[in-house]
Amino acid sequence: MIKTTIFQKIINGEIPCEKLHEDEFCIAFNDIAAQAPVHFLVIPKKPIISLFECTKDDSDLLGHLLFIGSKIAKSKKLKDWRTVINTGEESGQTVFHLHIHFLSGRKMNWPPG
Ligand code: 5GP
Repeated sequence: MIKTTIFQKIINGEIPCEKLHEDEFCIAFNDIAAQAPVHFLVIPKKPIISLFECTKDDSDLLGHLLFIGSKIAKSKKLKDWRTVINTGEESGQTVFHLHIHFLSGRKMNWPPG
């Protein structure tokens, strides 16, 4: 069972966020420490720790998260953006509730650090 994370508290409405979207399956909100002029997160309401824990049953949900993030990006008139999913501590994951970063508004570097 996932421990109560800061994102679970956001889903529960216990702590505020700059919400961009909410539906039955997910919520999207601006990152509190933006790493680009546009930086928002899309997270499932289902408490999944990371991609590692996803099963085939989560396939539609994963697609939905990407679709919603892209819809938000396009609604912001963005044409270029980067999506990032950190999985595990070594990758840089700090909040153990699955989330997709959408970053835009500046030139991105490759390879990522
Ligand atoms: P990770 O490093 O796990 O891939 O990304 C976690 C992200 O969550 C970070 O970019 C961090 O700035 C963001 N974050 C952490 N706590 C909060 C919070 O309370 N509110 C919001 N909006 N973002 C948060």
